[in-house]
Amino acid sequence: MANWNQEKKTDGTTPENADEEMAVAGSDAKPHTVSAPSDHAVKWLLPEKSRRYLAELFQGLRGDVTLLVFVKDGVNEPYNQFCSEFVSDLARISTKINPRFASLDSELAQKHAVRRSPTILVQPETYQIRFTGAPAGEEGKALIEAILMASSGESGLAEMSAKILDQLQEPRHAQVFVSPTCPYCPQQVVTAFRAAVQRPDLISAECVETGEHQDLALRFNVGAVPHTVINADHAMIGLVSEERFVAELLTLQSFEGSESPDGSAGHQGHSAPVDMDLLIIGGGPAGLTAAIYAARSGLRTMILEGKTVGGQIAVTPIVENYPGFSSVSGVALVEMMVEQARRYVQIVQGEPVQEVKIGRRVEALTEHGLYRARALLLATGASWRTLGVPGESELFGRGVSFCATCDGYLYKNRHVLVIGGGNTAVTNALYLKNLGASVGVIHRRDAFRAERQLVDALDKEHIPVYWNSVVEEILGTDAVQAVRIRNLHDGEASHIPTDGVFLAIGETANAGLARDIGLQLTSDGSIQVDDRMRTSHPRIYAAGDVTGGVRQIVTAVGQGSVAALSIFEDLSREG
Ligand code: NAP
Repeated sequence: MANWNQEKKTDGTTPENADEEMAVAGSDAKPHTVSAPSDHAVKWLLPEKSRRYLAELFQGLRGDVTLLVFVKDGVNEPYNQFCSEFVSDLARISTKINPRFASLDSELAQKHAVRRSPTILVQPETYQIRFTGAPAGEEGKALIEAILMASSGESGLAEMSAKILDQLQEPRHAQVFVSPTCPYCPQQVVTAFRAAVQRPDLISAECVETGEHQDLALRFNVGAVPHTVINADHAMIGLVSEERFVAELLTLQSFEGSESPDGSAGHQGHSAPVDMDLLIIGGGPAGLTAAIYAARSGLRTMILEGKTVGGQIAVTPIVENYPGFSSVSGVALVEMMVEQARRYVQIVQGEPVQEVKIGRRVEALTEHGLYRARALLLATGASWRTLGVPGESELFGRGVSFCATCDGYLYKNRHVLVIGGGNTAVTNALYLKNLGASVGVIHRRDAFRAERQLVDALDKEHIPVYWNSVVEEILGTDAVQAVRIRNLHDGEASHIPTDGVFLAIGETANAGLARDIGLQLTSDGSIQVDDRMRTSHPRIYAAGDVTGGVRQIVTAVGQGSVAALSIFEDLSREG
């Protein structure tokens, strides 16, 4: 049995990339004024930058928070050690955090019904918040949020969501299945934790690591993350809004596709209008760059992001063509951009814009508020294109996925097929192979359009390619079992048994708002812009993937800067 009062070593026994991932976890940093706790005799798990960030953040802790860590030697061993080191670090950073370590065989484990190693409980005497598995990746952010919530006793739920939960009269257990590299997962976990803080009498919330607890993931047929299961029965696949989450938690009915689960007109209107010079919709590279440039020009600027910051780059496993970085993970690159942008502007996440009105000022309505600005930049990005074949939508989240970075962990030691022949398809195939999956690629032509370097890497890995082949059907009942493909040269059909299908067949512009406003679009549905990123309507601009073109990170960044400079010029001229 490990001695939990002793310092642990941080050598190769920690989970792979733990340092790097924790650096990501702490990289939402604002300009720092607090020095990092440092004691040269102590072996820290967290890098100095994260410690400095957390030290500043934890200055705002009000009450003490107990973190109870349960482990069993020999089970999920590197993750056990990670948990105890992580929690020990947090306790050294703030005296308000009280760590306790116990064995899975202890009475305490029995008392709290803890059966899996590692498990972390947050403030267990007051709340039912638990991590089943180590928060060693993106979801480390959710642990930090849970600590802040438990310390303040405030859930941070919107007023309407709190009112919905007031109606709850029966117990609810929300399990959110996550993977360490899923950028959408922490937000879903935090929403579940908020609910547990709002109604500690009836709601328990659990973050489950799919990689460490694959048996649980299989039991609940988890094929994509985040995947939320309520009371072991009702499922929500993907990141869902807080409004939808609480409504489904209450009713155990699906509100998928419904904008306002509460039946209201959508805008809850409980906050005062926010006024600014420039409103940017979309927090990917284009929006973040524009924000930096605009704010530095003196424009009062804000970013509204419907989901989570980063856009598609946050789910790009590796980027090798962004100058200055010969190889960097997409999430690390975007975290650096976000950190820089946050120095200048406020970024509001999880607030999709429902409607834009153009009058003397531009107005954007969300469920939570009204935002008014002199100019609007649409940096809404693009979404994955779908095949439109039978089985694709039915099995989405049950083996069909668009995000190798999020869901790849579920397919370790299993077979997957990647569809497409561009950079995304080849990058995803290499990433999945690297995770330990057995991978094949299906491409409709006899040559890839992906970069030579990536194609060479694919050859080197001996990843088989089904050339000149199209997918006609994805087969399976509760989960993907096979695909039926047809060879376009000889017309022959064949079945390929597989566990997962990763689609990477290009993108379509997220131009819904632009269409509603009546902006001119191109023939492929992207927003038409001039060379200064002006759209067909004065004071409305667009940048990044939503404008079509070559859709590279560097071009999105370049367009963001051009848009901001144009906006500054135009608004200055207006006086
Ligand atoms: P893409 O370059 O447009 O490639 C889409 C692929 O899907 C093509 O090979 C296309 O086949 C195939 N396809 C399209 N519709 C299909 C259908 N209905 N059925 C079967 N196959 C279909 O898309 P992407 O790979 O997502 O890349 C999008 C942009 O992001 C590109 O500009 C790319 O360079 C960039 N990107 C960059 C990086 C990086 O730099 N690290 C990584 C990912 C993406 P055809 O070849 O026959 O048209």
